[in-house]
Formats: sequence, structure tokens, C-alpha cells
Amino acid sequence: MGNRNPYQLVSREWQPEDTHFVVNGVVIGKDLMMIAGPCAVENREQIFTISEYLSKFNIKFLRGGAYKPRTSPYSFQGLKTEGLQLLREAADKYNMAVVSEILGTEKIEELCDYADILQVGTRNMQNYPLLKALGKIEKPILLKRGMMSTIEEWLLAAEYIMSSGNEKIILCERGIRTFENATRNTLDISAVPLVKLLSHLPVILDPSQGTGMRELVTPVSSAAIAAGADGLIVEVHNQPDEALSDGDQSLYLDQFRDLLPLLRKQANFRNKRFDYDGVYALSPLK
Ligand code: PEP
Ligand code: MN
Repeated sequence: MGNRNPYQLVSREWQPEDTHFVVNGVVIGKDLMMIAGPCAVENREQIFTISEYLSKFNIKFLRGGAYKPRTSPYSFQGLKTEGLQLLREAADKYNMAVVSEILGTEKIEELCDYADILQVGTRNMQNYPLLKALGKIEKPILLKRGMMSTIEEWLLAAEYIMSSGNEKIILCERGIRTFENATRNTLDISAVPLVKLLSHLPVILDPSQGTGMRELVTPVSSAAIAAGADGLIVEVHNQPDEALSDGDQSLYLDQFRDLLPLLRKQANFRNKRFDYDGVYALSPLK
């Protein structure tokens, strides 16, 4: 069948089989990938407390912004290099991989020194020089959907990375702007199965930026897995009420703990491995 779409390399027509790659023992695109941690790294005690807690459940990916793209220049901008160093130290101690945001081409080298997966945020999805430069590195890229982007624009952004040479891309639906203002964004759950039809790339979902409300994170996470997502990126904080960014959408530690058995059931249903507490969700998969 000919390719009806403007993107090629990322399309199912180009590659019918799902893309898989391994980071920290997790087969991304096949197993359930759980990325958790605070919106931003704030201090040593915060990131070590959170990562220690996550590691008790065998969570393999630690998120945390060190360079934060804030709407206001007066908001906390992140700890920058110090934040990356703290993340790396905590992740190494607890056997986790680091996921952190890249804001511009000039920081790629530094991010590559500390992070295992580089996150391109919603505000940068159409930063084409950045996408091209990320196509030249070896590390996987977590590409968030632009808050005002169509699915076609999002897949074309992935095409920029892939056509520059990097095939390790994880797509992340994180909500788009609509007239609705009861939630921070309008999370497009249907994007998950649609993008899985159109592309072979792994697709995960961010229920935290997607809703802006911690009360919605559990049900929406569950919906994402039911819809076929390959994983989640969830904001978790030891003191959400004191958080320097995105406290309202950050789960308390015990809320995160309680989410896990629910996700395991759904991972089971989707035939996806989720060994969150060290025991495989399923009897060994082939
Ligand atoms: C974040 O993950 O904290 C973040 C800023 O994400 P997004 O780019 O989706 O807003
Ligand atoms: Mn955030």
C-alpha cells in the first residue's frame, strides 16, 4: 500500500512492526513504561526522598525538570546543572534511568552527560533546529505533543528526528488547548490508538500535564492503558502542597503507590509486562 501521509519513516506503512528499544531493562514499546518523579528537581532531600520511594516499587525511570520552560519568567526556572547532577546521583543510587527536558540545542551535550532520555516539551515540539540536532544523538527522545498541534504535525516533528538519524523516539500525548478550562488541557485519549494505527513508534501519556488535577490522574492513567498506551509519565512529589511547580497535579506518594496495582491489572489485560514491584505482571512473556 502506498503511503498516503506526509510523514514516511515514522509511519506504519514504512515499518509495520512496532518499534522496540531497551532502556534500563525495560523494552519500550512492549513492556509498560512508567516514568515518575517531580515536575522539577528542587533540592537534594526532595529528589532523594522521591526516588527512594519510587525505587521501592521498582520504578525504572525518574523524571525531573532541571531546565524548566515556565510560562512566566518570574516562576522557578529549575536548578539547571545542579538539578541534573542531583537527578543523576539519585537515579544511580536507586538504579533508575533519568528523563529530563532539553530546552535548546546549546544544552544537548550537557543533557547527554546526565540524562538517559531527553524530553522535548510541548512548547518545543516545532523547534525544528532542536529536532534535527536530536536526530544526531544516540539517546532516546521523549517527544511531547505540541499543545496546539495536530497529530499530523506531531508525527512530522517525529519525522524530523528520525530523518536526521535517531530512531529511538517515544511519543507522548499531554493534552491540547481547547475552549474547555475546567482542566488544564484537554487530554486527547483517542490520540493514543490513532497514533498506534498511524505509526510504529511507542506512545505514552502524561495524565499530569494533561489534566492539571491530581484527582484525575488515576482514572486517566487507567484510561490510557486501556486505550493501548505503552506507558505513562506521572508527576509525584513528597510534598505537593509545597512544590515549586505543578503541585496541584502532582500525586502524593501514597496515591502513586495505590495507582500501581490498578495499572498492573490493566497491563495484564493488554499483555504488557509491568514488574513494578519486582514480580512480573504476567508469567514470563516470549
Ligand atoms: C513537564 O513535563 O513538566 C512539562 C513541562 O511538560 P509539557 O511540555 O508537556 O508541558
Ligand atoms: Mn510539570
